[in-house]
Amino acid sequence: MPKLTDVGSRILFGPEQDSFRETVRKFFQKEITPHIQMWNERGYTDKEIWEKAGSCGMLGINIPAEHGGIGGSFADACIVMEEQGYASVNGPAFHLHSDIIMPYFSKYGSEEQKQKYIPDMTAGKKISAIAMTEPDAGSDLQGIKSFARKDGSDYILNGSKMFITNGWLADVVVVVAVTNKEAKSAAHGISLFLVDADTPGFKKSWLMKKIGMGASDTAGLFFEDVRLPASALLGEENKGFYYLMNELPQERLTIGVHACAHSEFMFEETKQYVMQRKAYGKTLSNLQTIQHKLAEMKTEICVARAFIDQCIALHEEQQLDAQMACMAKIWASELENKIAAQCLQLHGGAGYLYDTPIARAYLDARVQTIYGGSNEVLKDLIARQILAPARK
Ligand SMILES: Cc1cc2nc3c(=O)[nH]c(=O)nc-3n(C[C@H](O)[C@H](O)[C@H](O)COP(=O)(O)OP(=O)(O)OC[C@H]3O[C@@H](n4cnc5c(N)ncnc54)[C@H](O)[C@@H]3O)c2cc1C
Repeated sequence: MPKLTDVGSRILFGPEQDSFRETVRKFFQKEITPHIQMWNERGYTDKEIWEKAGSCGMLGINIPAEHGGIGGSFADACIVMEEQGYASVNGPAFHLHSDIIMPYFSKYGSEEQKQKYIPDMTAGKKISAIAMTEPDAGSDLQGIKSFARKDGSDYILNGSKMFITNGWLADVVVVVAVTNKEAKSAAHGISLFLVDADTPGFKKSWLMKKIGMGASDTAGLFFEDVRLPASALLGEENKGFYYLMNELPQERLTIGVHACAHSEFMFEETKQYVMQRKAYGKTLSNLQTIQHKLAEMKTEICVARAFIDQCIALHEEQQLDAQMACMAKIWASELENKIAAQCLQLHGGAGYLYDTPIARAYLDARVQTIYGGSNEVLKDLIARQILAPARK
């Protein structure tokens, strides 16, 4: 069982992780790939697939067992992200649920919240979403307008969110809202709330039709006088921005992990194609320009993989800083898009057909430089750190 599709060797994963990887790989091949085209067209996956993944131990892997998760390492969790990338299936958004959202419940949730949600999230019985982005606030989270007004010990939430992954299927949503309009900066006046999908006043919009990532449901969410008890507040009031800043590095690294694996998928797909496609009496892979292109792509993927593996290892030791996480996301997502463009080109006209794996991979890759903090905004964060000593 290869640890990777065909790219170099790795020291990050030991043989004990191979059997889990094999289970996950088979799961994607058997349970997801046969349905992906239909889910892509429809715009969302079946809820049942989440429960199946839960029963195979594929959700909440890096969440402590005492909180209701699996209790595995972050590297273990990366196996699911990577296998989804190798399978090139753009839904369900397992890693968003498990590795981006569940840590908020585990790290900042009360005992009651942990018990209420985490075991069901690990079992795939509750699907989660996180709602930060609004029609007028994307990159600049300090511009959010959703407001949770205090009413006795309750909160009354009003506002709207857009582009929310899992927004259509979600049973519970982590909603980012202003709680103190008088705070000296928005960063000090934002809180996080856990909002159940059946709460009166909470409505989901239509499914947003995207150019890629079709099987991953994306929706707008509306909150109209939604009454939330104090027990819906996640962590402390007005600390939401701090929690987000704490968790965003892991989100960015997960995008890098997936981007690398997805690049490998596209490379392998293209290698197979040029080895069988004939031109001038030979296969394309006989042409030196094609061989060099393959060599260049493989080298770039291996270099990116080495950096991503280093980031995973550092993250396991709680040593990954925000800037390195930004670099991982930027580098791997830009490489993924470059590989996508080059691989599509090597497929010729066949690559331009909507339902070919390479065309879908190309369209799916496009969003990776946009969400999770757009690459431009992340470059700002890196630059700020580079220049910080000079400002003192
Ligand atoms: C498929 C998909 C799924 C998503 N899922 C979620 C989700 O689950 N939850 C959620 O909350 N959000 C989600 N988003 C939203 C996503 O995080 C935002 O789209 C992203 O943060 C960018 O915000 P924006 O679209 O408002 O772009 P804008 O902020 O309007 O930016 C537009 C352009 O300007 C550039 N720009 C902005 N500021 C700067 C700057 N300071 N310097 C240089 N350039 C700048 C950006 O890089 C971008 O190129 C999703 C988006 C998509 C497309």
